[in-house]
Amino acid sequence: SFDELKKCTKNFSENNLIGSGGYGKVYRGKLPSGQMVAIKRSQQGSMQGGLEFKTEIELLSRVHHKNLVGLVGFCFEQGEQMLVYEFMASGTLRESLSGRSGIHLDWKKRIRTALGSARGLAYLHELAHPPIIHRDVKTTNILLDENLIAKVADFGLSKLVSDGSKGHVSTQVKGTLGYLDPEYYMTQQLTEKSDVYSFGVVMLELITAKQPIEKGKYIVREVRIAIDKNDETHCGLKEIMDPALKNNTNLIGLQRFLTLAMQCVEDSASERPTMSEIVKNLESILQNNG
Ligand code: ADP
Repeated sequence: SFDELKKCTKNFSENNLIGSGGYGKVYRGKLPSGQMVAIKRSQQGSMQGGLEFKTEIELLSRVHHKNLVGLVGFCFEQGEQMLVYEFMASGTLRESLSGRSGIHLDWKKRIRTALGSARGLAYLHELAHPPIIHRDVKTTNILLDENLIAKVADFGLSKLVSDGSKGHVSTQVKGTLGYLDPEYYMTQQLTEKSDVYSFGVVMLELITAKQPIEKGKYIVREVRIAIDKNDETHCGLKEIMDPALKNNTNLIGLQRFLTLAMQCVEDSASERPTMSEIVKNLESILQNNG
């Protein structure tokens, strides 16, 4: 209940504030059972927020997977909406890549992060009933737990894809600039392949540690330029690679990872692999020592 959640966050004290996002504020809390949780709190009012909240709850209460951030409970009371999630102690993937969280991900850990998130998304696309397109895959929506297991979060933008109309759901374009599938943007036809595009951008971030758009430049374009340059002079790839990765990285694995990422960000959705093909490919890269 509201009062219990209030207690477990010490009255929503600023000390327990972890961040704020689209829905409102996120607090750290401890349930009476001892379980650590993250509580997303938002005041009711904006219809938009209300609807997104309901959507998120309906989805998450049905979906369980090791690589998806689990919804522990929720509470609608006293004009408040609260979602209680399992606590992800190591923060967002973006924080790790930017060096802000103090967690350094070496190359193998980055492949495992990609593989975990890919498994979570493959589950949403292929095993959830009905299939779910995430619509907002990005490094701030990939969280790491205390063991650095990657889990995909934030289904606020997700929408159930009804079986009959699979692949032909047309809606208003939503998502985050820099991750947005250009074909979806042009045609407004949302498919699982839009998540694959965004996931490809996440993979490029894992290689470069750059944000999808930096100083007005798109990472996808920058990497394409570097690859062309590499074909000519064999020095383009070093320029785009995260400096923190330069030692101890298997360049064969990195090349395979990069090739896979570039397939994911193909302009034409039909050229992109499916999430489960990506999972298989990443497993193979990991088995060959990254
Ligand atoms: P957005 O709407 O921008 O995606 P969220 O509201 O989902 O943001 O989350 C805001 C911040 O709260 C995140 O950037 C993250 O740092 C933190 N956070 C969200 N969920 C969790 C969680 N389950 N465990 C730990 N921290 C979380």
